[in-house]
Amino acid sequence: MSKSPPWTRQEAFILLQGVSTYGLSWFCRKTGRSLAAVRAKANRMFGSASLTRGAYTLREAERWTGYDETQLRRAQVALRQKWKRTSPHGSFLIYEEQLEELVQWLKTDYWNIQHRLYGCLWCDTTSRPHYATGLCQRCYNRYVQRLRRTGLPAACAALLEVARCNREVLGDLGAEIERELQRGRALRERLLAQFIREVL
Ligand SMILES: [Zn+2]
Repeated sequence: MSKSPPWTRQEAFILLQGVSTYGLSWFCRKTGRSLAAVRAKANRMFGSASLTRGAYTLREAERWTGYDETQLRRAQVALRQKWKRTSPHGSFLIYEEQLEELVQWLKTDYWNIQHRLYGCLWCDTTSRPHYATGLCQRCYNRYVQRLRRTGLPAACAALLEVARCNREVLGDLGAEIERELQRGRALRERLLAQFIREVL
């Protein structure tokens, strides 16, 4: 097999721009290079072997999925996806696998995917990001303050121990409290108020 000529800047550029739209085989036809050579170059450029099923720019991803940039970015953050760029300030490239994951997430569009919440447990906000235990930062601070004032621990595991030690006084309420804390969630305001009233 004869050695193929070195890649020109122009070819590399077209590969980045065109592959997402037309696919690898289109690029092979266009340049006369073998699929293996193009794939190897693409993998070197993108840093992984995940290009085989195609990639989309952010604009293309919007067009294909019908979701806007804000939604896609929200899903990206939630899923901790890293998007490659065509150049340091170039457009984003989203791999097909990533796009599938984004679309899957956006179908449910949780505010917090870990706790499967559509909003903050206390204030129901979706405009502030999730901070911890199913709460935004503002509510989390209030939650911790409230517990500290009463001398109760803020960590879910420690609070769960308190609930378990008070099973008899808590009754049915205790089961709900334990279930929430076991899932690593803060207690909703109403539940917390009842809890504090019962254990103190
Ligand atoms: Zn909140």
